[in-house]
Amino acid sequence: MSKTYVPADLRRLVFERAQDSCEYCLIPAALALAAHQMDHIIAEKHGGETVSENLALSCALCNLAKGSDIASIDPETNDTAKLYHPRRDQWSSHFQFEAQTGLIQPLSAIARATIRLLPINRPESLTERVILFRVGRLVIPAD
Ligand SMILES: [Zn+2]
Repeated sequence: MSKTYVPADLRRLVFERAQDSCEYCLIPAALALAAHQMDHIIAEKHGGETVSENLALSCALCNLAKGSDIASIDPETNDTAKLYHPRRDQWSSHFQFEAQTGLIQPLSAIARATIRLLPINRPESLTERVILFRVGRLVIPAD
């Protein structure tokens, strides 16, 4: 979360690249109660810049939970693990979408730490993702 001004051209690029969906929980901006936000993947306090390669589109709930964090604890090993980096990490290497339940399952320490910290599998999102998937509107990040 940041108060840094992100120029309109850059904001447009981030929204288009993410197809208007949160890059963490995949919920589209049109379904969110609060506006989606510009996430500094590496927070400015850690040296992250306001550039395309360090920005992701995030819903307000994921962005609030993430704050300036760049790592968390993997609940399986209790080791520190980096958070998922939408520009550097391949989504399909870390996460798997379950069409029947709407759950996003972790495949790696990075994913487990990210799911632990962010409300990616909050109950209302599961139903939304199942419906979006069925109508072909769930944006699963391409690798
Ligand atoms: Zn989200």
